[in-house]
Amino acid sequence: METQVDLTAALQWHIDAGCDECIDDAPINRFELIDVAPTMAAPQQTQAQPVATSSASGSPGVSRGTKVDPRDVDNNQQVRSAMMLAAQAKNIDELRQALDSFEGCILKKTATNLVLSDGPENAKLMLVGEAPGADEDRQGLPFVGPSGQLMNAILGSVGVTREEVMFSNTVFWRPPGNRTPTAQEAAVCKPFIDRLIEIVDPKILICVGAPSAHTLLGETQGISRLRGKWFSFQTANLSHPIDAIALFHPAYLLRTPIKKRDVWNDIRMIKRKLDEHITS
Ligand code: URA
Repeated sequence: METQVDLTAALQWHIDAGCDECIDDAPINRFELIDVAPTMAAPQQTQAQPVATSSASGSPGVSRGTKVDPRDVDNNQQVRSAMMLAAQAKNIDELRQALDSFEGCILKKTATNLVLSDGPENAKLMLVGEAPGADEDRQGLPFVGPSGQLMNAILGSVGVTREEVMFSNTVFWRPPGNRTPTAQEAAVCKPFIDRLIEIVDPKILICVGAPSAHTLLGETQGISRLRGKWFSFQTANLSHPIDAIALFHPAYLLRTPIKKRDVWNDIRMIKRKLDEHITS
């Protein structure tokens, strides 16, 4: 018979695993809904992918005896499909439609809403965080929870209103339990965030938190080393590089208020650069 201790432990286990919200009356076994077989059964499409683990003979993919992580094969195929879909989008509405039709990111299966963007399509300042949290997932908008409110205050401290800024994330669905997105999840969403940046074409791109800086800038250092310096963001379709910078994540500032001093310096530096762009 289950005791209260068992039930409390079971509940805690679920919370730790990321099941921290009731979204339906009856449980759904989401693993039964995931069908990876069709994508793994397409060897010709894995051939062109250098990222897949390759055998000594240099033939990546599914040949007998080759050690391949099926998730890499599947992921590479999903990345190609994401690139094709994203490239066709001419504006944010089309990008949203593309993401609505995209089934290549597993996070979509557990999220409540797609969280793509908030802000004007021609914003001069664009801010890209890591991933939507619980509030963002509920409302379908980025940076609307406590982190978003602190971010609004940080921007407000240099006279920039939320309404002037484009907000987005490196992944567009909430990871269960607010865990960091996996490399696979970031990789399949990357073509879409690249395309969103191309469409907005801001003067300045702010990477909020280390995962965003790593995904967008290709850097690997910790955020303390990355912040306070200018980088260039570039894609094949942008006619010019975009000034980019990394910032401590407001969620980190909420836990470590002493770091607000650095952010205060960084946001003033960003505002000066923005003013230079606007007056030049
Ligand atoms: N943290 C993020 O990185 N993005 C959001 O949208 C909310 C919190």
